[in-house]
Amino acid sequence: MSLNSVVSAERIHISFFGMCNAGKSSLVNAVTGQALSIVSDVKGTTTDPVKKAMELLPLGPVVILDTPGLDDEGHLGSLRIEKAKQTLAQTNIAVLVVDAHTGLQDMDKQLINELKERRIPCIIALNKADLLDERPLSEDGSLYVSAVTGEGVADLKERLGQFAKQMEKPSVLIRDLLSPGDLVVLVTPIDEAAPKGRLILPQQMVLRDVLDAHAMAIVCQTAELRDTLASLGRKPRMVITDSQAFAEVNRATPADIPLTSFSILMARYKGELDALTDGYCALEKLKDGDQVLISEGCTHHRQCNDIGTVKMPGWIEKISQSKPVYHFTSGGDFPQDLTPYRVIVHCGGCMLNQAEMQHRVKMAADAGVPIVNYGIAIAGMNGILKRSLALFEADRV
Ligand code: SF4
Repeated sequence: MSLNSVVSAERIHISFFGMCNAGKSSLVNAVTGQALSIVSDVKGTTTDPVKKAMELLPLGPVVILDTPGLDDEGHLGSLRIEKAKQTLAQTNIAVLVVDAHTGLQDMDKQLINELKERRIPCIIALNKADLLDERPLSEDGSLYVSAVTGEGVADLKERLGQFAKQMEKPSVLIRDLLSPGDLVVLVTPIDEAAPKGRLILPQQMVLRDVLDAHAMAIVCQTAELRDTLASLGRKPRMVITDSQAFAEVNRATPADIPLTSFSILMARYKGELDALTDGYCALEKLKDGDQVLISEGCTHHRQCNDIGTVKMPGWIEKISQSKPVYHFTSGGDFPQDLTPYRVIVHCGGCMLNQAEMQHRVKMAADAGVPIVNYGIAIAGMNGILKRSLALFEADRV
């Protein structure tokens, strides 16, 4: 990743779907101007979704996903189709590539319905237009394109650019609650779980947001917080901490200074703060044998005192006075059937894009299973949930 690059979760994710040999991979290559995907006349050449972050003019930073064919055959084929469908969870804009000769097939229509249900905008690209004798007018806004001659590719990119512009979100983590000159204290423990030589993504993002507000950030570890606060000479606008240090930071921060955590800010940023907060109560009501899903958005290296697999179960058992049964997932793995679980505890999800995090929260809601994130859970378990959300009261009315 270059120093100037936009992190993957912040990029618009554009997924290309289509039947085998609709020319999907050739069109991906024509749109990106790169040999991103293997192109072959053999059916089903794209085996797993191919994912690449890139700058795509006039859109800017995007992630392009080329998915396996919707009609891939055999056992492996059905696994590939499943993977193509899983890609929907992280898709912001879909391009459905259709062979202009054969037109929309049943599986294309099924996908269009699924995209509609999930409210994912879709552009239908009628490929191989160079081989057509005539072009009936389309009523669904589809575009005639040719990956071979390049015809229509600029129009497709233009259309993608229009969608991308509509979905540009004001990427505000905390900036809206700051004024120029405000002081913000960031507490970032450097423990055995901290990556070597850098801050983790939510910490970097919050720091950048504070700077964008022309406020000032002071960064310290937990042990130095009291000295840091004492040395400021004025009250900071707020203290933002790593959730794992919530209890200690709460004790060290005077009650009149607002306090919250990086993962609570991430939940707000991704639009999930209310749903994740509502899920907290379920943790306290757990009983012996209840199933709990603990899910993390990336496959980071687990430490011996890992938060997801060691600390969180310990805290849950203490607050609920029960012995639940845990199931752990990480990265792209997220169970399709959530009904066996009594509650889902999710990490801050900084490596998941907004569409995927929202999809997971919606799946939980559809299954009737409460979901909470690490930061909210830890705040609740330390009796400071109200305090850690007080900054956002205006959002929640
Ligand atoms: S995705 Fe989750 S587990 Fe991975 S770094 Fe972000 S918060 Fe931590």
